[in-house]
Amino acid sequence: MERLIDKFGRPITDLRIAITDRCNYRCVYCRTGNEGAQYAELPFTDYLRIARVFAGLGIEKVRITGGEPLLRRGVVRFVEDLAGLRRLDGRPLDLAITTNGHLLAELAPSLKDAGLRRVTVSMDAVERERFARITRVANGFDSVLAGIRAARKAGLDPVKVNCVLLRGFNDDQIVEFGRFARDEGVVVRFIEFMPLEEDRVWSPEIVVTLAEVLERIRTFRPLVEIPHALSETARRFRFDDGVGEIGIVAPVSQPFCGHCSRVRLTSDGKIRTCLFSLFDHDLHAVMRRGGSDEELADYVRSVVERKEARHHIGEPGFEKPSRSMVHIGG
Ligand code: SAM
Repeated sequence: MERLIDKFGRPITDLRIAITDRCNYRCVYCRTGNEGAQYAELPFTDYLRIARVFAGLGIEKVRITGGEPLLRRGVVRFVEDLAGLRRLDGRPLDLAITTNGHLLAELAPSLKDAGLRRVTVSMDAVERERFARITRVANGFDSVLAGIRAARKAGLDPVKVNCVLLRGFNDDQIVEFGRFARDEGVVVRFIEFMPLEEDRVWSPEIVVTLAEVLERIRTFRPLVEIPHALSETARRFRFDDGVGEIGIVAPVSQPFCGHCSRVRLTSDGKIRTCLFSLFDHDLHAVMRRGGSDEELADYVRSVVERKEARHHIGEPGFEKPSRSMVHIGG
């Protein structure tokens, strides 16, 4: 079987599957707070078949996302089924989940037992009140912290904590997050805010860049850069005493499109070849028509072939993508 490779020669090895676009948080930079779910959810058997077809095309990592993936009943069983799939080299898939962590304390041990390797928890403040203002959910902070601790205890490794920074909103939390990484033994990753929100909040001025994060965190302690793989999105740093790792994902100020290895499947079974795509590709329609695995694989190949060269954030004529982040799967 031929491995997936796009017309720019980028090998595609990383699939993200959104299993819902429902979310129990209403983060101010992501959702308006008025919109609910907008797209269908497929039965897990359909996502599993799609994942199997992708594994046969050289996919090595699968990340389950949403919406909030832990809201969907049956997610543990889905992880168990994914863990039964094999990569082309015969090894199991590298399985991860991105979650807001609200329900993680309860689910972490069974997710680990089911075959999950890693978890990324989104957390945009380390102060309770600030956290509530961002998520628009009262008392979520303690649940998320408990989720992070339970994930570490269950042996999910590494536990990454993603923080999207917005100027004037949570950029005063940068140093506190540095402390948090050291105290909690997690990898904290600061993410540059991208124009992917339901509302129109984004402006170049609100983005806190990689250079700025480094400058601020170095006032706390010196950092040493860790070499990273080209397809990795984050620049990685350790504090000078070896305790605590932070990463910075800088799609706006230092785009990494040239090494992008990702494609996404939305909850309703559409392929997106870039977060900023202006179109989806309806893979599930091929299934509904009774397409064979070979036909699904052919369709995936033809779509990947057309993957965009790069995004155009901040350029004149930038067009907003056809879906916002919560409805794509981050
Ligand atoms: N509900 C899960 C969660 O909270 O992680 C998974 C879905 S959420 C859409 C995935 C990630 O996208 C979160 O880390 C969130 O902070 C991030 N995100 C949402 N909107 C974003 C934006 N406009 N720019 C950058 N990251 C964004």
